[in-house]
Amino acid sequence: MKITLTKNPKQKPDFSNLGFGKYFTDHMLLMEYKDGAWGEIEIRPFEPFAMSPASNILHYAQGIFEGAKAYKNDKGEITVFRIDDNFTRMNNSAKRLCMPTFDSAKVKEALFELLKIEKDWIPTAKGTALYIRPTMIADQPVLGVHASHVYKFFIILSPVGSYYAHGLQPTKILVEEHYVRAAIGGTGEAKCMGNYACSLLGGEEANKKGYDQCLWLDAAEHKYVEEVGSMNMFFVIDGVVVTPALVGSILPGITRRSVIEVLKAHNMPVEERRISMDEIEKAYDEGRLNESFGSGTAAVISPVGTLCYHGRDMIINNGKMGKITQFLYDEITGIQNRTKEDTFGWVTKVN
Ligand SMILES: *Cc1c(COP(=O)(O)O)cnc(C)c1O
Repeated sequence: MKITLTKNPKQKPDFSNLGFGKYFTDHMLLMEYKDGAWGEIEIRPFEPFAMSPASNILHYAQGIFEGAKAYKNDKGEITVFRIDDNFTRMNNSAKRLCMPTFDSAKVKEALFELLKIEKDWIPTAKGTALYIRPTMIADQPVLGVHASHVYKFFIILSPVGSYYAHGLQPTKILVEEHYVRAAIGGTGEAKCMGNYACSLLGGEEANKKGYDQCLWLDAAEHKYVEEVGSMNMFFVIDGVVVTPALVGSILPGITRRSVIEVLKAHNMPVEERRISMDEIEKAYDEGRLNESFGSGTAAVISPVGTLCYHGRDMIINNGKMGKITQFLYDEITGIQNRTKEDTFGWVTKVN
């Protein structure tokens, strides 16, 4: 590994007002793939790439990414949450996008080195973290449509606060009945860039109507719940937590899996299955839809206060965060910031 430190460290932002993904640390990790192999991992100053306007990532979106978080406590101890799962998923995404896989152990070791270098960039206040963004892009200047022979793998870091402007406030979600995000057999279960590009219009239209996000339905029948932009979805119906099964079009979220594992460890009922909007609407009408929330690394657990379907706003739990949602938020963030015991082995010490 080659390490080059910056001569011009940046001024740190105000850690009490970080927002999400707006500031980047002084260094980044970079590794390049050519002639059939990954080169040496480098830690070097965060700076722009020079790339050809013909680079294939700019034309055909052969690119994947991940999202994870590092935390620091008052003693200066740095930890990461389920990072191996991120690298495993990234290698799965790489296979789906015809990109080369990489040695997770080596990359993890280099990431830990980078985190130690950037330790002063890790915020410690409740709800804050250092967001880790591993990314891989094709970077060969050819316009023919085929898998690239040249790639860049990089990791950038961003100190973050709350993902949503209003923090843990329940969100308003519009069920999208026209556009779709992913079909079975497509790339929905890979964390690839194109999935986001095609989801923007639905999101923008939801925003214009006063909603925070849109909820995607299945591509074939527009009946079954899939997920929202960057979160997996959960509903509590008659006290049972239900979430859409991973059928191939849904991103297998690490927070989703953590939610399921926490519920099982506490003997709380949880089901992974198909859930139709008709079922949700019926449960709502009969007063059996107790709670709803989304899960994802960025927001961790985000309560849903309003769900709009067929032009009708369903107000869930009086628009407030429910008990099970609060319990899961407390358990998972407690393990992440080490105020609760990690009986699952999800937390890894970096220093
Ligand atoms: C990243 C992502 C999620 C959440 O996954 P986590 O591993 O929990 O962060 C959910 N849906 C989509 C589409 C995503 O890209």
